[in-house]
Amino acid sequence: RTSVVAIVGRPNVGKSTLFNRLVGARKAIVEDRPGVTRDRLYGVVNHDGKSYIIVDTGGLDFDDESLGSQIRVQAEIAIEESDLILFVVDAFDGIVADDREIADILRRSGRPVLVVVNKCDNPEREIAAQAAHELGFPILAVSAAHGRNAAELHDAVLARV
Ligand code: GDP
Ligand code: MG
Repeated sequence: RTSVVAIVGRPNVGKSTLFNRLVGARKAIVEDRPGVTRDRLYGVVNHDGKSYIIVDTGGLDFDDESLGSQIRVQAEIAIEESDLILFVVDAFDGIVADDREIADILRRSGRPVLVVVNKCDNPEREIAAQAAHELGFPILAVSAAHGRNAAELHDAVLARV
């Protein structure tokens, strides 16, 4: 079957922006405030003659849930549905407690994970992004908004699906 790639991560780290970058269109809703993306978002990525389905779990809406349990639910869905998990963190914020909680869930799942350190808009950020190695997964520094390392991101995903 067609491979499924899931995007997970805290609100506001740039999941929707990354989704748009991979799909190549502005299909996701991007907002400055955390937690405002509402739609469950699926897209098809076609690249180098391969295609895969991408899911933005941040599009799932859990009005009644606390932030922590939303993140847990999103991670569980990503684990169940996907062949590869893109775990997005924010180079500006650094690694925070919620990131470590998501990492623990993903690690226990045994699923393939690539940490995408987003908002690496310049080389200095890219160096700081190396701190994400503490999460224990392979990492790739990108800027979803500016397209920095977009080709490397496509290649890294295609190599794993
Ligand atoms: P989500 O909540 O994880 O889906 O995050 P969004 O994709 O909605 O992005 C949250 C905010 O981060 C928006 O203001 C984006 O414009 C911004 N953002 C996303 N990617 C980047 C990036 O590569 N660099 C910078 N500087 N900002 C970004
Ligand atoms: Mg979003």
